[in-house]
Amino acid sequence: MKAYSQMSKEELLALKSDLEKAYDDFKARGLKLDMSRGKPSSEQMDLSMGMMDVFHSRADLTAADGLDCRNYGNLDGLPEAKELMASMMECRAEDIIVYGNSSLNVMYDTVARSMTHGVMGNTPWCKLDKVKFLCPVPGYDRHFAITEYFGIEMINVPMTPEGPDMDIVEKLVSEDEAIKGIWCVPKYSNPQGISYSDETIRRFARLKPAAKDFRLYWDNAYCIHHLYPDKQDTILEILDECRKAGNPDLAYKFVSTSKVSFPGSGVAALGASQANLEDIKKQLSIQTIGHDKLNQLRHVRFFKNIDGMREHMMKHAAIIRPKFELVLDKLDKELGGLGIGEWLRPIGGYFISFDSLEGCAKAIVAKAKEAGVIMTGAGATFPYGKDPKDSNIRIAPTYPSMDELGLAADLFILCVKLVSIDKLLENM
Ligand code: PMP
Repeated sequence: MKAYSQMSKEELLALKSDLEKAYDDFKARGLKLDMSRGKPSSEQMDLSMGMMDVFHSRADLTAADGLDCRNYGNLDGLPEAKELMASMMECRAEDIIVYGNSSLNVMYDTVARSMTHGVMGNTPWCKLDKVKFLCPVPGYDRHFAITEYFGIEMINVPMTPEGPDMDIVEKLVSEDEAIKGIWCVPKYSNPQGISYSDETIRRFARLKPAAKDFRLYWDNAYCIHHLYPDKQDTILEILDECRKAGNPDLAYKFVSTSKVSFPGSGVAALGASQANLEDIKKQLSIQTIGHDKLNQLRHVRFFKNIDGMREHMMKHAAIIRPKFELVLDKLDKELGGLGIGEWLRPIGGYFISFDSLEGCAKAIVAKAKEAGVIMTGAGATFPYGKDPKDSNIRIAPTYPSMDELGLAADLFILCVKLVSIDKLLENM
């Protein structure tokens, strides 16, 4: 296929008029499709319905340590829930706290506590003139929303195929005491689906931050979210790497079963060094008497162990893999070689990340919306919603049905072509 940049003005205008007809046809169909948020489909949630059967009015709700889960008691997780979540997190059960239903909530709390009370005896961030966070981009909008909410200055760090650009991370973190953290999604990152290389993770573990209270916010949200049974990424375990590097307190690791069982009704957990956990528990014991143990028990009885979870994830994969492939195959076929967009082929996670020509993303998303397809807002993958190149678009293929997704992808591709032609014509 001929790259658009090689086409004459006349060729582009002719192409534009054909594409506009196709676009108008789409508009006339009155579509109402949503590719904006990374939600599982209802078919995926059906996979976990068996969890509803493990409890009934005569069920024994006693935990492994004899605790009656119907009553108060237990701050940091049932022993069996710790075992299950720790094996999902690939760390030791004694290194985690099992929380409630949301890991994002735990991340928010972690920032909030650091603001008001400080980290392990260091000055509370609210008493400092300036607090900064590094934000690998493109990244997860809800991470950036938390740091923005607390008035923390966010600094973009470009992603590479191996993870965040570590030359930049090392330099900034070692020079600037105001930098207190970095948002990381180390496996099947949101939105690119990139897994950090061993070298990247070792460099993270070996960081020598100027701030004693600098922490890696290691959000391993997609740790078991593979798309293929035989092609799976594995990454180094960060708590272990930090210990080996003599930096045991450097990382907070977050995880949840949101996209394993039920989003909003899963189980979340945090992993960290004993010193960090002690510091956190001082707050936790004031904040709550304990989290939802019945939900923890329900998860353990349903999944049984990490093998049960992995098996379950392959059922998810069987549903969502064709959706990823549908979109990716269309992108390859329709946009490959045209020089108007770039994308990666993830083997896990929940998203496809698309980069348009510079200055086109907002217009593409607006054009898709006009014809009834909602995409994640352009810019959402950057701090403050500002993509300096206006080129990144996050595609979330899991929620729509295959038919809807096919239509939405066709329309998206049309919009990419039309907006790119306008951009090229503008520059001629
Ligand atoms: N982290 C990442 C990277 C996510 O993409 C999401 C959204 N699924 C979350 C956290 C939210 O997790 P939770 O439902 O546990 O709050």
